Amino acid sequence: MTSRTEHPVAIDAGAAEGVFMPTELPPLLDDEFEQILRGNPNLLRQWVQEFGSPLHILWPERLKRNAQAFQAVARRQKVELDIFYGAKVNKSQALVRAAVEAGIGVDVSSPYELADALRAGLEPRRLVATGPAKTASFHRQLLARGALISLDSVGELESMQALLAHARPEAPARCLLRYRPQAARMSRFGMGDEDLARCLDLLARAPRNLGFEGFHFHLSGYEAGTRLQAIKELMPWIERARALGLRPQLIDIGGGMPIEYIDPHRYATYLKTHSGADYRHGRRPKDFYPYGGGLAAADWLEQLLASALDPKHTLAQALSSMGLRLAIEPGRSLVDQTAISVFRVNRLKPLAQGQQVVFVEGSSFSACETWFASEYLVDPILIGAAAAPDSPPTLAYIAGHSCLDDDVLCNRLVRFARPPQGQDLLVYANTAGYQMDLLENEFHRHPSPKRIAIGRSAQGGISVALDN
Ligand SMILES: *Cc1c(COP(=O)(O)O)cnc(C)c1O
Repeated sequence: MTSRTEHPVAIDAGAAEGVFMPTELPPLLDDEFEQILRGNPNLLRQWVQEFGSPLHILWPERLKRNAQAFQAVARRQKVELDIFYGAKVNKSQALVRAAVEAGIGVDVSSPYELADALRAGLEPRRLVATGPAKTASFHRQLLARGALISLDSVGELESMQALLAHARPEAPARCLLRYRPQAARMSRFGMGDEDLARCLDLLARAPRNLGFEGFHFHLSGYEAGTRLQAIKELMPWIERARALGLRPQLIDIGGGMPIEYIDPHRYATYLKTHSGADYRHGRRPKDFYPYGGGLAAADWLEQLLASALDPKHTLAQALSSMGLRLAIEPGRSLVDQTAISVFRVNRLKPLAQGQQVVFVEGSSFSACETWFASEYLVDPILIGAAAAPDSPPTLAYIAGHSCLDDDVLCNRLVRFARPPQGQDLLVYANTAGYQMDLLENEFHRHPSPKRIAIGRSAQGGISVALDN
């Protein structure tokens, strides 16, 4: 924490800034950010002046609330739940620290994420490592820390055994086996039946320095049904492991719990009515994240636990009767509403055939959904002079400051209440989940955008610290 300043949050009634909430796809906003936006937008301008554009503003406290919502579900359903924060979702150290303060574990997939988690004060046994291509050096670090290691192949298990023959960690190594659910048969992650059987045999014969704790999988997509099915597929493997004298205690179902960005009715309406004409290039992307899915992550977990695993038991009942804990590795859903990203407008430029583009200071690497052939279907909030020229609503797409033709924050023509102009701010809500910094780099030698972490100070003001 290099700089820490205090800002009173007096409601600035005479603010020169106008706040133009979008009308088509307005974001669901966390109260804290809403208060700043509506009550004190000058603060955003001040921060952008101080730290540059774009600026990612994080509210790490919110991650703790997201973790508590999962824990409340587990209590209601009487399930033992281990939560591991999927740290790859965001580069913010303040979010890792919030996860540690929330008392949950961290899922790390590189030595750097491992170092960040330890720097944040994580108890090493709360680490899980699930990545598919761990190096020997990463394995050694994980073993030395007593981390839980998800093994992705027979080869990885053999490497681990070779390492253990030499290294003598203080405690036995702890491993999970990563299963490849039938819903993902062509995936390169996890193991099919034959390899899983081979691993169990190896583990059953392994010396005591290699402990087996259970099974793991991670699926793409956001359906609870595919997770339930994968758990059903794993049940015979639990029996088989036990028959071999092993003691599985845990099923780790990975991440993919969905979050809500947009009111579901508005979203449904948008999806029904939008067409190619709403995009600068005339093409409507094929896939979107379910921005208006209408289901919060904790409710998703509750529905999963309450669904029938067999004719007599809900998943929650089956887990506890079998003495199994459930683990989840939420990335996106733990960082729900923990960040906004602010871009300063450079200028509005008219183009051929009546199109217009807003150039911002910053690039689409800091708002990257378009690089995945999709769109962030959440409109930015425009902040700027309220007394702007009396002009009609403006349709424009938003582009970054680089020379790449594809450097666009959105291909979609966004409807602005008035023409954006230089020095205005565009605020994107809820950007912490893969949107804000997954692809950030120093293209054109622009320095990497800054993150600041804000919080409530004891005096009721807002504390600000550089997040690095
Ligand atoms: C990416 C990933 C996660 C987190 O996924 P979210 O969709 O962000 O919740 C969890 N586990 C594994 C193995 C992953 O690769």
